[in-house]
Amino acid sequence: MFTRIEYDRYMKSKRLLLSILLPVYVYTLALPNFSHGAEPIVYSWDNYDNWYYKKSVSYKGWKYIVIHHSATSAGSVKAFHKFHTQQGYGGIAYHFVIGNGNGMKDGEVKETFRWEQQISGTHVSVNSWEYNVFGIGICLVGNLEKSPPTKSQITALNNLIARLKTTQNIRSQNILGHRHVKYDDASDKKEQTVCPGKKLDIDK
Ligand SMILES: [Zn+2]
Repeated sequence: MFTRIEYDRYMKSKRLLLSILLPVYVYTLALPNFSHGAEPIVYSWDNYDNWYYKKSVSYKGWKYIVIHHSATSAGSVKAFHKFHTQQGYGGIAYHFVIGNGNGMKDGEVKETFRWEQQISGTHVSVNSWEYNVFGIGICLVGNLEKSPPTKSQITALNNLIARLKTTQNIRSQNILGHRHVKYDDASDKKEQTVCPGKKLDIDK
């Protein structure tokens, strides 16, 4: 049995412990919310230099998916990387390449360094820069003006689009073929190209 004094002393020490532990506990609980409360980064033209080449793995600013064909019968990430580097694009223009069995496996999806580093592409013209900066570029190997993509390419493309739509929050109306991409200047002009070819039905 406690005496009255012992009991008081016991309660006092307990209160002291609580007064130390409780704030620590509350602070720990609240900590993740503090970091969430930090100002979200706004990706605008005003702070362009701060983010264009420096997007991180957690970058979630993608707004569009732009679909291309290579206009060549064969191709691979390696081949396009070499070609686009020579063209002065700073490496392969796209974020993803889907093979057709010539240079890459049929239906094989490969990420490029642009996706890994979450940096902007160079897959549309300077007239539509918005789509380079905020658009995920996907290239189907093949000349889809002349012959349709393979079944495996279609399946791979559909799966990739479905995945990107969910993980990156891309709206359906922002999934476009290269030739449907409009100029930035509000002239209503579209990219001067047949890409990704008449044999690919984007609506499908
Ligand atoms: Zn294109």
